[in-house]
Amino acid sequence: MTSTPATLRVVIPRPLYQAYDYECLDQPLPEIGCRVRVPLGPHSLVGIIVERGFTSEFDKLRPIESVLDSTPLFDKPLLELLQWASVYYHHPIGEVLFAALPKRLRKGLPLLQNFAWHLSCDDIETATEQTKRAKRQLELLNQLSQNSLTEAQLTSLHLGKWRSPMKALEAKGFAKRELVTPEKHITSVDHPNQNLITLSDEQENCMTQLSEWLVADTLKPVLLHGITGSGKTEIYLRAIKMVLAQGKQALLMIPEIGLTPQLFQRFCDFFPNQTVVALHSGLNDLERAQNWQSAHTGEADVVVGTRSSVFCGFNKLGMIIIDEEHDGSFKQQEGFHYHARDLAVKRASQLKIPIIIGSATPALETLLNAERKRYHYSLLNQRPGTRQRPKTKLIDTRDQTLEAGVSRSLLAEVSNQIKDGNQVMLFLNRRGFAPVLLCAQCGWHAICPACDSEMTFHAARHKVICHHCDHQKTVGSYCPACKHPQLSTQGHGTERVENLLCAHFPDTPVVRIDRDTTSRKGELAKKLALVRSGEPVILIGTQMLTKGHDFPNLTLVGILDIDQALFSADYRAQEQLAQQVVQVSGRAGRGDKPGLVVLQTSQPEHPMLNQLLTQGYRAVAQQFLVERQAWHYPPFGYQALIRANTPQFETGLVFLQALKNDLKITLEEGQDEIKLMGPMPSAMEKRANRYRYQMLISADKRSSLHCFLDQLISAIRQVKKPKELRYTLDVDPTNFM
Ligand code: ADP
Ligand code: ZN
Ligand code: ZN
Repeated sequence: MTSTPATLRVVIPRPLYQAYDYECLDQPLPEIGCRVRVPLGPHSLVGIIVERGFTSEFDKLRPIESVLDSTPLFDKPLLELLQWASVYYHHPIGEVLFAALPKRLRKGLPLLQNFAWHLSCDDIETATEQTKRAKRQLELLNQLSQNSLTEAQLTSLHLGKWRSPMKALEAKGFAKRELVTPEKHITSVDHPNQNLITLSDEQENCMTQLSEWLVADTLKPVLLHGITGSGKTEIYLRAIKMVLAQGKQALLMIPEIGLTPQLFQRFCDFFPNQTVVALHSGLNDLERAQNWQSAHTGEADVVVGTRSSVFCGFNKLGMIIIDEEHDGSFKQQEGFHYHARDLAVKRASQLKIPIIIGSATPALETLLNAERKRYHYSLLNQRPGTRQRPKTKLIDTRDQTLEAGVSRSLLAEVSNQIKDGNQVMLFLNRRGFAPVLLCAQCGWHAICPACDSEMTFHAARHKVICHHCDHQKTVGSYCPACKHPQLSTQGHGTERVENLLCAHFPDTPVVRIDRDTTSRKGELAKKLALVRSGEPVILIGTQMLTKGHDFPNLTLVGILDIDQALFSADYRAQEQLAQQVVQVSGRAGRGDKPGLVVLQTSQPEHPMLNQLLTQGYRAVAQQFLVERQAWHYPPFGYQALIRANTPQFETGLVFLQALKNDLKITLEEGQDEIKLMGPMPSAMEKRANRYRYQMLISADKRSSLHCFLDQLISAIRQVKKPKELRYTLDVDPTNFM
């Protein structure tokens, strides 16, 4: 009788393309997908088992140190997806697998135990009396008096901040904590579903279509193309309801910072008897691990998450929905350059579950997929009820006096709307006071010493800050070069417009929303709550404002400065600009009052802009597709970008050139469909003290691109790399800077 070899193949968190073989004398062997601690050289690392009981080609294997999990963290389909992603993105498997885990688990910490909190007092009135001055405690007490709650549920309900008030309740003897075991699970009282909206006819039709399409024999991804304010969220909620009714879980993926407390609350209200958890960068490590784990065990019914939630483990995933699928934040821009939407589509097809891809401005590749009938296509072309799409007005800035970049006519519109008790939003995708600080006397500029870039002036902080590397410097009122007593600025950022608005509208709150004003936890939520109150406010902000918000009382949207973007050299920039204009405009007139969009530009005749305003996004997208096809650009061709940088000038360039020379023979031997552009300096050659170079690889067929990339990777592994070289390979790049 032959016994199974006592072997494990383990992936470790290093930039390596292969796994390592170890010996394991435990019987039975730990399962695939479990973590183990293994030795590597003098180190001890956490690894993940990907194979077991095989015959290793090596005779002498080092034994593992310990087994960390009794049940797998990755099931077979998820491991397969990650292995597929490693191959597709040509990225080391070690980094891919570990990217899929929350930090605590990457570090080797055990899975959390699941605790629940119960009320532990008989006399709720006395307890209420004794906590009435502590708002959070009182809120928790009320919750517990209706229902015991698991820690995962608490984390999702309170978006994180429940631990210390709960400890206070425990200290007073009003609450107690108990381990949840299979025998001792929490039963909930039945809460009624709040805020049930009656669907419009168009939404009803969409649901009918979906229920036909989401059955096995017609299963394809569904593109839900719904104009802004058409009520896509209601469709998501009802689609998820169908899945939950089958006892399965659902994943809703949203853009980074697109998770507003309001959207999350909408889901909690719609599913009062289910556990809805969030997965995003605003959570701390413990919360992340907890929420990840509740999806993994199946306790969470709905996960609302950003990019990386595509890798979340699920017990019984039944549907994926991607909202605002065109959004750039679904693409990871460093390290493992994956696209979460594309991986979600892959994951759904592998699990044979439905996926809905929603947007008012679908990405070109998604539209093409719909056109080629690879995706079902559903259109919501109206806003529910009597609501209309907003009207748009162009203002030619060439014949206007501008103050901080804002035209007189726009200021007059703002004033009108405020008088009528409405809310206003101004959009400017540049934070800070001004993008350039200079001395008119001697020509000095505030230039970043680490980058080829101007530093942005932040007036309130008396600083110039580099928006590329975050280098900061305090500035005084005189020129550091010639001591001239006055410095000038050029251009405008949100801070400057905020000042202008405060001066013009002293009686109306001006709310600035950008990364500078929302970096502390809870700040964004506070600002949004003020807007939600419906009182007249003037919002000024960057693209953070464009994502997903629904402010019914907002009637006017002003778009301040898009001229630069109209002439960007990057072919994707036009697509992104069109999407952005439509998305920002879509914030106006979502409630009962009609909306108006005012777009300031010095290029009112720009063809793309005109087509967008007169014929809409679909027409513009169609035009882009025609151009892309003519140029063999994606989605008609396939691209990858290899980037290399070092602290030395041109070293990265030399490295890429050597690589290109190495591959020349391959290229000559019949792979003439591969086109290389470069190597050349990146648009910003020096950034954060590193000199950056890139080479673009294009092909008409995906298979030839990937075949070439395999050769590229093996060439990279063979060539001698300069010291301190960092390189990345970006498959399907979306950013060429
Ligand atoms: P989208 O995501 O498509 O931009 P939302 O789902 O945020 O739009 O819906 C826009 C607004 O319309 C929200 O305030 C929502 O509550 C409301 N709404 C959606 N569907 C209906 C409906 N059938 N009847 C009334 N209001 C609706
Ligand atoms: Zn000077
Ligand atoms: Zn810099």
